[in-house]
Amino acid sequence: MDRPIRLRYAPSPTGAQHLGGIRTALYNYLFVKKLGGKLILRIEDTDQTRYVPGAEEYVINSCAWAGITFDEGVHIGGPFAPYRQSERKDMYRKYAMELIEKGHAYYAFDTPEELEAMRNRMMEQGNPSPAYDHITRQYMKNSVALSKDETERRIQNGDPYVIRIKMPRNEEVKFHDLIRGWVSFNSSQLDDKVLFKSDGMPTYHLANVVDDYLMQVTHVVRGEEWLPSAPTHVMTYRMFGWEEVMPSFAHLPLILKPEGNGKLSKRDGDKYGFPLYSLDWKEQNISGLKEKGFLPEAYINFLAFLGWNPGTDQEVFTEEELIAAFSFERIGKSGARFDPEKAKWFNQQHMRRKTGSELADLLQPYLDKKGIQADRNYLERVCELMKERAVFIPDLYEAGTFFFGEISEYDQDTIRKKWKPEKQEIFLNLIAHIESISNFTEPSIESGVKDYMKENNLGMGEVMPLLRVALAGVLQGPPVFAMMDVLGKNISVQRLHTAIKIFDNFR
Ligand code: GLU
Repeated sequence: MDRPIRLRYAPSPTGAQHLGGIRTALYNYLFVKKLGGKLILRIEDTDQTRYVPGAEEYVINSCAWAGITFDEGVHIGGPFAPYRQSERKDMYRKYAMELIEKGHAYYAFDTPEELEAMRNRMMEQGNPSPAYDHITRQYMKNSVALSKDETERRIQNGDPYVIRIKMPRNEEVKFHDLIRGWVSFNSSQLDDKVLFKSDGMPTYHLANVVDDYLMQVTHVVRGEEWLPSAPTHVMTYRMFGWEEVMPSFAHLPLILKPEGNGKLSKRDGDKYGFPLYSLDWKEQNISGLKEKGFLPEAYINFLAFLGWNPGTDQEVFTEEELIAAFSFERIGKSGARFDPEKAKWFNQQHMRRKTGSELADLLQPYLDKKGIQADRNYLERVCELMKERAVFIPDLYEAGTFFFGEISEYDQDTIRKKWKPEKQEIFLNLIAHIESISNFTEPSIESGVKDYMKENNLGMGEVMPLLRVALAGVLQGPPVFAMMDVLGKNISVQRLHTAIKIFDNFR
């Protein structure tokens, strides 16, 4: 059946969404854009005990920063509103009851103590992973094991109950995963998951399936951690008689630690000095890539590569290029290793693609915060020159502070090695020569200085490090003549004069 393509990103607001969650959102987004469909943002907040205020806004803002946009959702509404499951609460009971009527679900009255006792009993009998399933259900307090009258009496009495799925014995549950191919389970391995809780809320399993059905979702793209839940979901579709419109599934590979030993964890960010989150969230002690000076273009580029590859050598992609190249066939099954160095490399590449003016826009708020003022035109030229040397936006300033104020410290080592008092006069003449260059641009400064060096038999190694330290204080930085061009004649000459006075102190 050909249906309009509809995907959803369905996070639970249980804390700050880290980059793994945003990768899921991104893959959904790329697929929708590629095939022309609609993307929904649904908030799955049925577990009130894990609810964290602010988490919903955080995920919305994180997606917005990455350029992941939605067609329907909690923040924008749409034809299937509300999109927040807690606001859809009253609707799910009917579906749980439908399954009871069809004989696919049942009431269970077991107390936490009784459940605990069952687990302990089974462990003692040598079962390491006891479950509430087609065998155990016969011995528990539920509407399958109890008489009809007793069940009625308990319900009338207001005894708390949950509704559990009645997983059949020995049925094959098979579905086609867009990444993994055919996946099959035997229903005997599956437990009788709770569908509806005693607090009147559905569980994730029921709400997820019902909403995907009602919202006419055609593809479920989510992390591998949900693969074990998929057979229960497939069974639920079957029980409702919705198999015809069951979405296709794609379970994305895990994101692994840089060493490849296990799943990337929240703490790994601190370990590598690389935030695993999109945005700062002060109250939760979370630092974000945005505030670190990471570009959203680079973010989606490197997230796309965490599990997918284009099958060519191309690594740097714009959003449009990602949309064009993206496909499920090229998503791997095995875990994708997160590499902070590679992530930085992506940022460098995208910074280099930006103009001085675009970078100046991004650097300006950072300078404002530091109280540093710079002429716009000058700032653009500095950014243009520094972009080859910056990994994050603030590096445009941090690695080139000499562009924004006087030099406070000089590289003494270089001065001691290279400076000789006899050079004083030669240098004064060189400065005068530099001052006489009328068209003060990189090529004419370069040829002017080099001519002077040739006439006076001076080697590069004798002059260039000293010029560099005089102009920047440090040995690192952009090419010396380009630096002079941006600094301008007055400042350059003034710095050279100041330096040769100071150089003598370091002998
Ligand atoms: N609410 C689930 C989560 O937090 C969604 C899983 C799914 O997409 O089905 O990731």
